[in-house]
Amino acid sequence: MSLLLLVDLDGVVYRGSDPVPGVAAVLAERAAAGDDVVYVTNNSMHYRADYVARLTAMGAPITPETVISSARATALHLSHHEPGVRRVLVLGAGGLERELRDVGLDVVTAGQAATRMAQEGIDGWAAAGAPDAVVTGLDPNLTYLRLAAAADCIRAGARFIATNRDPIYPTERGVQPGAGAVAAAVEAASGVTPLSIGKPAPHLLDLAAEAVGRTADEAVMIGDGIGTDLAAAHAVGARCIFMLTGVTTREQIERLRADDRPTAVAADAGELREALQALTTGT
Ligand SMILES: [Mg+2]
Repeated sequence: MSLLLLVDLDGVVYRGSDPVPGVAAVLAERAAAGDDVVYVTNNSMHYRADYVARLTAMGAPITPETVISSARATALHLSHHEPGVRRVLVLGAGGLERELRDVGLDVVTAGQAATRMAQEGIDGWAAAGAPDAVVTGLDPNLTYLRLAAAADCIRAGARFIATNRDPIYPTERGVQPGAGAVAAAVEAASGVTPLSIGKPAPHLLDLAAEAVGRTADEAVMIGDGIGTDLAAAHAVGARCIFMLTGVTTREQIERLRADDRPTAVAADAGELREALQALTTGT
């Protein structure tokens, strides 16, 4: 029985710009043996092709259809589950705009709306052309008027969807505000709580499994975050191999209640290979 592997990226396949030694090779072995490998990341800023180039260079098995970022998942969610949404105001980065356009949505950026608000003295709803939904991600060029545009649209009745609610974004230069900080600002200004697509909500894993014709409850989540990867695995009934190659220590895992612990813990690529072998043979 082939496995469905849902694989987090940062802290599992790579750390910042450096590959985690051996993980790409283990995933390539599993794909060659017939497993479905799909990457799942809360990062909302990049387009799929960016990941394909980067992971292919590391030797990891990947196609444009097997990387589901929170940006891509939000686009898939809107196109599969919210057919009434045609026009979308985007408060986020360029990769998010592109993913939404790829599924045929009519995208207006918060930057465009903010420019019209300033030049024409109109509110954000009019400036954005009465969108059906507002989508938030990490907008590295966030301004007060962009925030106002998003809040105006939601107050006027647009759906509010957050790619993810991660409050912080760890980078090699330190911790920066995450997409969740942007969503929280819009939530505060509009009084509306968004539907969040990314981990720990179940939608990202459900959509990733759907992308290869399977269901998330049969998946093995491979991740390094307790509040994101492990929580999302529990939310969809998936098993979880927890990697100690990222942001979490073994002590933090051992402090969890027995029911909350992952299926297996792996300190490196060798232990990941063994854990996957054990799941395959049922030992
Ligand atoms: Mg991670």
